Amino acid sequence: MIETIYVEEAIKNHPRTKFILKKFKKSRIILINKYGEIFNKRNQNFRIQKANPNLILAHKKNGFVLPAPDGFGIGSSKNFYFSHMYNCIYDCRYCFLQGMYSSANYVIFVNFEDFDIALKKIIENNKNSKLTFFSGYDCDSLALENVTGFAKHILSFFKTHHQIEIEFRTKSIQKEPFILMKPMNNVILAYSLIPELMANSLDNKTPSISKRIRVISELASRGWKIGLRFDPLIHGKNWKELYQELLENLYNTISLDEIHSVSFGPLRFPKRMFKDIFKLYPNEPLFTSSLSANNKIISYDVEIEEEMTSFCKDISLKYIKEDLIFKCSI
Ligand code: SF4
Repeated sequence: MIETIYVEEAIKNHPRTKFILKKFKKSRIILINKYGEIFNKRNQNFRIQKANPNLILAHKKNGFVLPAPDGFGIGSSKNFYFSHMYNCIYDCRYCFLQGMYSSANYVIFVNFEDFDIALKKIIENNKNSKLTFFSGYDCDSLALENVTGFAKHILSFFKTHHQIEIEFRTKSIQKEPFILMKPMNNVILAYSLIPELMANSLDNKTPSISKRIRVISELASRGWKIGLRFDPLIHGKNWKELYQELLENLYNTISLDEIHSVSFGPLRFPKRMFKDIFKLYPNEPLFTSSLSANNKIISYDVEIEEEMTSFCKDISLKYIKEDLIFKCSI
């Protein structure tokens, strides 16, 4: 239940604002000038807000599509990302958003058409490059699809740009709009996964790993391209057994022909962000375990990162070709 919805005055009559508000008939509506008045307010407590977040509907003015950080990609020469929303309905303990924003309120930008314009420009300026766009860097790309309809909107853009890839990264089991459409070869449905036992304590409020695998399998059997994202790789007691079980379960359940790519990424936090996240959960075992500081980054030791990546990669190579496997290293 969303108690309060803040709406920017400028978009109060926008059709998408009306569409979203219809879904929250009991919420209190407050008109505001700019979303930053609420979202960037000082002295907010992320944890307290996370228990009962409000919604902000806003108009995005700039920065629609941005270059992805170096080391983020699945084989294209140029990678970009965009976010129609800030923050997430899930509450993963390692989520970087909790160290990035002081507010846990959700911001949804309703001017989707401006994302299309920005995408078009980038495609025109990069005619000779292979491009991949990542949806939902600052949120989960599909978790709130039944409210926003963003994936449905942006798919119609990519339907007419077959040569350009889009990845929706998610932990949700949201099947629409994909279940109602013919699969598109340039669309990757990418699922972030950790072993079930770890997810039970770290992936709070998300669908269970077994539910996610069921949906992945269903969408793959309908012909949608699947990305498997083991990012971050989590170290801990029995990690080898747990990852082996997860990987083998996935590869034995999903149609291997539909696997677009598999990527592994280490658990890493910029030092300042880690400090903020640690303050929220000083007793969280994940943050007091084998993490240490390397330059400006908090991470596992390189030997641990490499051991985990090569262990998981070796298992994957029994099922898929090496050119489908990527290492994410931001
Ligand atoms: S699903 Fe992703 S964006 Fe959402 S809380 Fe978890 S890590 Fe953060």
